[in-house]
Amino acid sequence: MTHRDLPTDNPAVVTCGLPYANGDLHVGHLRTYVSGDALSRALRTLGQETAFVSGSDMHGTPIAVNAEKEGVTPEEFALRHHEEYEETFPKFNVDFDNYGHTHEETNVELTQEFVREWEANDHVYEREIPVAYDPDADQWLPDRFVEGECPYCGEHARGDECDEGCQRHLEPGEIENPRSTLTGNPAEYHERAHKFLRLEDFQEYLQGFINRMEGTSNAQNQPREWIEGELQDLCITRDMDWGIDYPGEGAEDLVLYVWVDAPIEYVASTKQYSERVGTDTYDWEEVWKDGDSEIIHVIGRDIIQHHTVFWPSMLRAAEYNEPRAVCATGFVNLNGKAFSTSRNRAIWANEYLEEGFHPDLLRYYLATAAGFERDVNFSWERFQERVNTELADVVGNFVNRALLFAARNYGGTPDAELTDETETRIAEAMDDYEDALNEYDVRSAGETAVALARYGNEYIQNEEPWKLDDDEAAPVIRDCVQLVKAVSVLLQPFTPEKADLAWSQLGEDGSVADATVGDCLQAPPATFAEPDEPLFEKIEDERVEELNEKLEERVEETTSEEDEAEDVSEADTSEFEALADERISFDDFEALDLRVGRIEDAEGIEGADKLARLTVDIGVEERQIVAGIKQLHDLEELPGTKVVVVANLEKAELFGVESNGMVLAAGEDADLLTTHGDSEPGTKVR
Ligand SMILES: [Zn+2]
Repeated sequence: MTHRDLPTDNPAVVTCGLPYANGDLHVGHLRTYVSGDALSRALRTLGQETAFVSGSDMHGTPIAVNAEKEGVTPEEFALRHHEEYEETFPKFNVDFDNYGHTHEETNVELTQEFVREWEANDHVYEREIPVAYDPDADQWLPDRFVEGECPYCGEHARGDECDEGCQRHLEPGEIENPRSTLTGNPAEYHERAHKFLRLEDFQEYLQGFINRMEGTSNAQNQPREWIEGELQDLCITRDMDWGIDYPGEGAEDLVLYVWVDAPIEYVASTKQYSERVGTDTYDWEEVWKDGDSEIIHVIGRDIIQHHTVFWPSMLRAAEYNEPRAVCATGFVNLNGKAFSTSRNRAIWANEYLEEGFHPDLLRYYLATAAGFERDVNFSWERFQERVNTELADVVGNFVNRALLFAARNYGGTPDAELTDETETRIAEAMDDYEDALNEYDVRSAGETAVALARYGNEYIQNEEPWKLDDDEAAPVIRDCVQLVKAVSVLLQPFTPEKADLAWSQLGEDGSVADATVGDCLQAPPATFAEPDEPLFEKIEDERVEELNEKLEERVEETTSEEDEAEDVSEADTSEFEALADERISFDDFEALDLRVGRIEDAEGIEGADKLARLTVDIGVEERQIVAGIKQLHDLEELPGTKVVVVANLEKAELFGVESNGMVLAAGEDADLLTTHGDSEPGTKVR
């Protein structure tokens, strides 16, 4: 079975993996929500009726554990975080049609209905299993209350997940050498009766489902191994107080496993939305049960198994519709390493806003830095670079030039025909955008707008309308105004507020969020005033330095030696910077005095995290050069290494040390450039 291309006549729902109500949101968390929001906005621009929903995940053991530590009830603890999330998302223009939480009545009732349905359809059975028990605390130890070794790979693991090893979901009783996280004592295994969802019933179904399912390749491929092997049944109950009560008989003292009620919140949240706008406007039952629909899940890549194996089985067992697509985003690293909330090595969502940056800049960065499934690296340098070179230089510059020229010389859109060439170029961008969305390629969809603006800049540059009289220039400016309109429409899902600003500068009424792709080629307003503010401001170098220093200071405060091991450094190879727009002359290049140098000595600069003092022989003299390579290279290994030095760079002082030149290096890892043959130090590089 293949799906019809989007947009379809069916209602769609885009969901985002529920944030777990257990801590503050940082920039890494935001990626999934920004991507989901951009995708749902983009689908609407195609004319696809779309609801965008999510909610906070309130149950499970980590919340119970942390609430106990704080001496508050799990409900108080989780609600506090839920309210924070509910406030934070709109600040990033992540506009859910409904944002609920799993402890609300709607979800509690719906979850219990699901379970009754599974029982009625004979997919649930009871079995005795060994459950970890802490005799000192006189308490059962579900999930995170117990730690031990993974039976599959032997790594240290949590009760429900081999988080440090093979990443498998672990069933109760599977973990070996269990220890209580309450007391640290060895746990005992006692036999207890628990309820299971028989996944075996869905093995054949899942094999067909995974071939139909669209989305990202990681979500399509990872589950194959699981569903082709022997499927383990899912234990759906836990010995806890915090959670949703098991609705059936013989299990009154058990609650449902958090991974039962969490995804059902997708349905509950849609139901709440329906109840608010009326089922005539949007009917949740049509979407989830009775009609044809497009269900699209956007999640982090760590919960693929839950969304491609457990969740489709849960839906099927209750005779609900299956997802059309699962899109799993990669992680976000910070300066090449994993975010670490315990070490405060993170950029917090609220902190970003407090620094005064517009939310749309981060949205653009996160949604278009790399393909959905790839990891993204965040650094303030890269953030600055993308904002300055893509948003300010390309998009902002083009919109401003075009509208200023049009308003000054024609009082708005000049009275001329759109040229065939520009019309074709815009139509191609519309096609590319639509194709990208049908591939769930949010990044490429975002690139179409920037590419159009780039085309517009080149067009103005080549046509030089300022050298023409008003009649001659009119068709050029007419084209440019149309391009501005198209750029606003196509950029809206990524930078909604900024696109709205361009839209109003263009003299359009209402919000560009209500425009569809077809509007890219509709005539722009005849009159509009000169734009009174630039669309995007550039970020200064000093700001970036300041932000990096802040981050470094904070990390230093919390870093301990052992944490250094937690290095991910999964640099994203697809994440290349866009090629520079402007060409330089050969003379400009010749102005650089590049020399072969040989490192004679290298030592770290005391007090600086990254900086090293290099003594480099460049033939004619020895230079002292400061380079940001301290943690990236073994300094003792460096003497004797040949490098390329920018010899005529102006001197600078870093951490009180003079730097007389610069050593060339590639990428975040500062891969030093060297020579292939045996050129002597001092040899000119050209
Ligand atoms: Zn494992």
